[in-house]
Amino acid sequence: HLSERLAQIASWILPQSRVADIGGDHGWLLLAVAQKGLLGQGIIGEVNRGPFENAAGRIQAYGLGQQIDVRLGDGLSVLRDGEVDQVVIAGMGGALITSILDAGKSKLTSVKRLVLQPNIGGHRVRQWLVANQWKLVHEEIIYDAEIYYEMIVAERGSEDIYGNPPIPRLILERIGPLLWQNRDPLLLAKMQEELTQMKKVYGQLSKGQSKQATLRREELEKEMEIWEQVM
Ligand code: SAM
Repeated sequence: HLSERLAQIASWILPQSRVADIGGDHGWLLLAVAQKGLLGQGIIGEVNRGPFENAAGRIQAYGLGQQIDVRLGDGLSVLRDGEVDQVVIAGMGGALITSILDAGKSKLTSVKRLVLQPNIGGHRVRQWLVANQWKLVHEEIIYDAEIYYEMIVAERGSEDIYGNPPIPRLILERIGPLLWQNRDPLLLAKMQEELTQMKKVYGQLSKGQSKQATLRREELEKEMEIWEQVM
């Protein structure tokens, strides 16, 4: 009974690999992969005690304690060198995902694939990946419980997937170069919803006279213009 979002993330975990789910919270992701017989070894990392205990209790209850180790700690610091082949970081903002990856770079030497699902700020993740010799291999939009989520899968490589894009790279980083290239069927719907949201915020800001409101309004104007052009 994984959500659509977690099921999609799970489908990008390589069978029988050693996987860390950082910020694993409820623990359902690796639990479901293990129950399907597709997990090699799993590690769930959690920085907060509540979710840590929740995940640890659930893994015990399902009798999977031998296969999935639940650890309390910040980001990739819960891992020993060379311990995993894959890292999943899902359901957080792009800035947090990026800072976790950056602080834990040395723990990534054995890692071949990253499965990342930023709730917002996907461009931050894409910028970090390219700057650190990770290649985007797959991007997907997941529509789950009326929310559009972005998922990014990366593997080692420095090949420039942006090439000579018809739209500026900075914009493509926000949209997702592979989503754009593949004309992802949900991309237009997602951008449409974002535009509607921006218009709503813009409308609310129009009442504000503060310098902050003016600045944000100008930012939004630019962003809305780009979205309208690209769509
Ligand atoms: N990954 C799960 C998912 O996608 O359903 C849970 C997402 S939940 C919204 C984010 C989780 O990340 C929380 O349980 C939080 O405690 C954890 N978290 C936040 N910062 C973290 C960090 N630096 N290291 C480990 N876990 C972190």
